[in-house]
Amino acid sequence: MIKQENKRWWKDGLYFSCKGCAACCGGQPGFVWLNRVEAKRIALLLGLDVDVFLRGYTRNVFGRISLKEKENGDCVLLEAGRCRVYEARPLQCRLYPFWPSLLASPRSWKLESSRCPGIGEGKFWPPEIIESLLAQASPLGL
Ligand code: SF4
Repeated sequence: MIKQENKRWWKDGLYFSCKGCAACCGGQPGFVWLNRVEAKRIALLLGLDVDVFLRGYTRNVFGRISLKEKENGDCVLLEAGRCRVYEARPLQCRLYPFWPSLLASPRSWKLESSRCPGIGEGKFWPPEIIESLLAQASPLGL
């Protein structure tokens, strides 16, 4: 019971507002998972055939589709500090920073705040919304 409560250390809600700095879109190696439906949506926005998009912009990692990265670790779709496909960005990006790994403890949340200046600021996110975001992020292995 106590453990369960500790897992929900954010039960009074959290503050977060994106400042658009794009720090979460690059700078260090990682994976941005997407499924075929998301790939189609992004390809459409870029005006590309989905297979052309998949070949040019994604890689296969353990049988899953992930966006490629530039040499400096930036997402391949990041251009001049902006996401080229923001309106069609994958669920993983939409859910950030409400990922199970980042909400595992107050420490992991605080650690991520050194990367993301939006954490701990701005909009209040009530626990029921956080719960629902975590439920969506969990199957993605975030
Ligand atoms: S690091 Fe945080 S503030 Fe910057 S773009 Fe990503 S979510 Fe927004």
